[in-house]
Amino acid sequence: MTTAVEPVDVIAVGAHPDDVEIACGGTLARLVDQGYRVGIIDLTNGEPTPRCDDPAIRLAEAERAAGVLGVAFRKVLDLPNRRLFDCFEARVKLASEFRRYRPKLVLGFGQKTPLASPDHYQAMLITDAAVFYSRLTKWDEHFPGLPVHSIPRQLYFQLGFEHPPAPGPTITVDIGGYLERKIEAILCYETQFPPEKQYVVQRVRAIAMTAGGAAGFDCGEVFASPRTIGCQDLVQAVIHDQQT
Ligand SMILES: [Zn+2]
Repeated sequence: MTTAVEPVDVIAVGAHPDDVEIACGGTLARLVDQGYRVGIIDLTNGEPTPRCDDPAIRLAEAERAAGVLGVAFRKVLDLPNRRLFDCFEARVKLASEFRRYRPKLVLGFGQKTPLASPDHYQAMLITDAAVFYSRLTKWDEHFPGLPVHSIPRQLYFQLGFEHPPAPGPTITVDIGGYLERKIEAILCYETQFPPEKQYVVQRVRAIAMTAGGAAGFDCGEVFASPRTIGCQDLVQAVIHDQQT
């Protein structure tokens, strides 16, 4: 029998610890401050990498970054780094977490990342499938003790401007006031961003300012939606929700 856990509002899924921080760390920090319960799931531990001698170091960095963002939980699954593939077992593993934590919104990869890790695209395929598997009835043998859960919304984040955005309508989150926390969370990964790679910080700033500026904010993070985004109150959505 599975122990019940407190549901979360949002789960962000990355392939490796640091993906989520880079893609949407500002949004997660802001959601936490807005009172939402947020979780992070990394499909792999991200190791090996050139500058990290022990996976435990990367995991400790990930925990510190989660603390900076203030999320309710972070879970690192045991799928293999560098050879992550969309397969039935991976889908069930992630869908089990969705059934356990019952998010209203899932954030994840939405596109290939050419010249970077192919794990990212596999993570997108796994996440898409797991969102679907989470709600499937008459499949309890694969999800013992975990009732079905329909996830109302899914959005795709973008790892950086050097990678193509996901197709579909976009929405920009104002992360003004949260950019420094995002950068602090990224810099928790000392093994990934040593002094000689500090240019990453400048790049993260530039991306946030460009994305935010396009929506009239100082800084922003962009998400793509697999479906058109609707609203109940047009004035609220296009005027009040746009103002800082
Ligand atoms: Zn990655």
